[in-house]
Amino acid sequence: MRAARILQYHKPLVLEDIAVPDIEPNEVLVKVAACGMCRSDVLLVDGFFQNYGDIPPPVIPGHEITGTIEKIGGVVSKSAGLEEGDHVVVAPGWGDGVCRHCQVGNTHICANVRWPGFGSYGGFAEYIPVPARYVIKVAEHLKFEELAPLTDAGLTPYRGIKKIRDAGGLGPDRVIGVFGIGGLGAYAVQYAKLLGAGATVVAFARNPDKLAIAKSYGADHIIDIKGRSTGDIGEELKKATGQDKLDAIIDCAGAREMMQLGFAITPTSPR
Ligand SMILES: [Zn+2]
Repeated sequence: MRAARILQYHKPLVLEDIAVPDIEPNEVLVKVAACGMCRSDVLLVDGFFQNYGDIPPPVIPGHEITGTIEKIGGVVSKSAGLEEGDHVVVAPGWGDGVCRHCQVGNTHICANVRWPGFGSYGGFAEYIPVPARYVIKVAEHLKFEELAPLTDAGLTPYRGIKKIRDAGGLGPDRVIGVFGIGGLGAYAVQYAKLLGAGATVVAFARNPDKLAIAKSYGADHIIDIKGRSTGDIGEELKKATGQDKLDAIIDCAGAREMMQLGFAITPTSPR
């Protein structure tokens, strides 16, 4: 199969012909149809993750993977409902399935987590072996290239919504703030609208073009925060929603000033 691999960090990927990988009995072989390119892929090539642990080359990057099932391992349960030819997306963050994090669905923080695209096999190749429990069947009319980023950029704010749900932050009397409208924030707005159980969704950003995107994706209100005081922003929030504090925030920016604003306009104890 063709694969674009890291042979040396800080050097361009090398396109090579390598053997199609074997699968374990609990895995499926996915024929890659489309794979997103994430900033993490660029960071990986640039050796950034070597600061956190050695990932010895050759490495095939790519963790936003979609494709079709080519082959199914011998012990994959029939009840998984998987067939050769099925269209699938690959959920990344392969936990061991047995620890307390895995048990509640937080496989990405499992101590034994494995990530496709950060080792021998990834999405920048024609085939990848995947544990059967980490493929998700998708409808055939959906476009692979549109599905691919849902497995990472989409999954991150989705996890945020689940956390807010678990903390009692969803519902028609709740106001959810989405901070930063980029690749993640644009998804966060949509998830908050679709899964927020009627919560009001307010987008906060410094760029009017990005706020317009948030509006088009369903944000109930948008607030431009550039150069404004916390009090000023709280007043606009109150005018828009009837309350000057947010019940929950999905911060997709992570910038210091966003975090400071977040703490300032979130109640210190849940209502
Ligand atoms: Zn685990």
